Amino acid sequence: MMLKDKKAFYKVCFDSMQVGILVCNSKKEIVLSNNPLSKIVGCSTEDLFGKNTDELFNENSLLDEFIKHPGKVKFKSVIDDYIIKKDYRKIPVELSFGKIEYEKKPYFKILITDITERKNKEIEIDNLNIKLGEQVEIRNVELENAVKKLKASLNKEKELNNLKTKFITLASHEFKTPLSAILTSSELIVKYADLDKTHKRDEHLAKVKMMITHLNGMIDSLLTLENIESGEIIPSYSNFKLSDLINEIITNSKPLLLNNQKINFNNNYNEIIFQDANILKIIISNILYNAIKYSSDNSKIQIEYHLNEKDIQISIEDNGIGIPEDEQSLIFKRFFRARNVGYFPGTGIGLNIVKGYVNCLKGTISFKSVENKGTTFYVQLPKIESYE
Ligand code: ADP
Repeated sequence: MMLKDKKAFYKVCFDSMQVGILVCNSKKEIVLSNNPLSKIVGCSTEDLFGKNTDELFNENSLLDEFIKHPGKVKFKSVIDDYIIKKDYRKIPVELSFGKIEYEKKPYFKILITDITERKNKEIEIDNLNIKLGEQVEIRNVELENAVKKLKASLNKEKELNNLKTKFITLASHEFKTPLSAILTSSELIVKYADLDKTHKRDEHLAKVKMMITHLNGMIDSLLTLENIESGEIIPSYSNFKLSDLINEIITNSKPLLLNNQKINFNNNYNEIIFQDANILKIIISNILYNAIKYSSDNSKIQIEYHLNEKDIQISIEDNGIGIPEDEQSLIFKRFFRARNVGYFPGTGIGLNIVKGYVNCLKGTISFKSVENKGTTFYVQLPKIESYE
């Protein structure tokens, strides 16, 4: 079959393509375009004829580069760009460049595909990815928190187990001695009852009493720990003379003193303070009993206190065994005992309780210590006005 009008046939083929086609000369004047391109840019073929391609693309567009260097590798594949519609909207397109020659003149053709839908999908996917990323981030944080909580409760559990083990060790060491002393004394009491040796019997009864008091004290300490920890201790403030309280503590400590051991306390102040006397008594007694225990015969212990407008400062100084420097940071930990305590009896609870009580009174406790030279503990408590 022969085609009568080839030009018309070419036009039909040209207009039925899936992509927009634009052909321009080296001055970038459009010499040919098809219907699909008209649909993309919203201009008729007639309107496009003779127009400069700069009106469709941004200036310095890819076309300028292609005209100068048509052989560049990047022009061998499709390139994403934008085309400007009649209403100045920018449409995302895919461009494919080619150079042709007609009557010895160069022409440049661009195949243009509208990729709005694809781009929208890409944006949608990007947004979904961002959302997904955010959700993953949230889940990660939740997961991290859950792991942290789990670790914390595991640590707590471990710590509890440790404490239980320590308590059992402590109980067997510290409770065994007084219990066997009680047993011996009670056996002797029975023996002396027969022989009518009343004074010996009384002596052992007193011993039993003392041991029971000691055991009671230990159990009280453990219970106190629980109360401090659960925040159940609420200070009960009253007015009293600090020097009287310290003198009472010193008198109570007399039976514990080693040979020729002395406690110096110069009572400089007569002032009345407003504090919890019972708590303060436990704090000072614990520190003083340690000072007595961890010193030797003939040693001296110095107690001082200073009152100023803001606070009450108490210091207790001994020249005993001291605390090894590398263990000083652990001294307030429950059950901790420094390696140099040797056969000195103890449970490692006292200072932990002291610290808890000092916190309870919103004060601070610190110390300075040099091994084999001595230790000074400092307690600072805020001065509370009775009307507060
Ligand atoms: P403990 O029952 O062992 O005395 P504490 O809690 O009272 O327990 O004290 C903890 C540890 O701190 C002691 O075991 C000891 O190592 C150290 N320590 C406390 N006070 C003194 C002190 N005045 N001199 C030397 N070491 C001390």
